[in-house]
Amino acid sequence: MGFDVTCRDFVRFLDDYLAGALATEQVAAFNDHLAACPSCVSYMKTYRETIRLGKLALAPTSEPVPDDIPEDLVRAILQSRK
Ligand SMILES: [Zn+2]
Repeated sequence: MGFDVTCRDFVRFLDDYLAGALATEQVAAFNDHLAACPSCVSYMKTYRETIRLGKLALAPTSEPVPDDIPEDLVRAILQSRK
């Protein structure tokens, strides 16, 4: 066993995980956690959906969709959904 990923760790590093910014062994540990933790799987789905909706909300016209959504915005959207 390498990293022992908790739900807290998962939430904290989800940005990096989705961005592919984690080391290989960290990704493996995250995948192990996902395989054993349905709540984090659903959290990740919600999170990705939130990012997608955030991009749509930022592009009401034919403006190009920015790739880098500010982290603060994502957090604000997540907060507003609770
Ligand atoms: Zn979990």
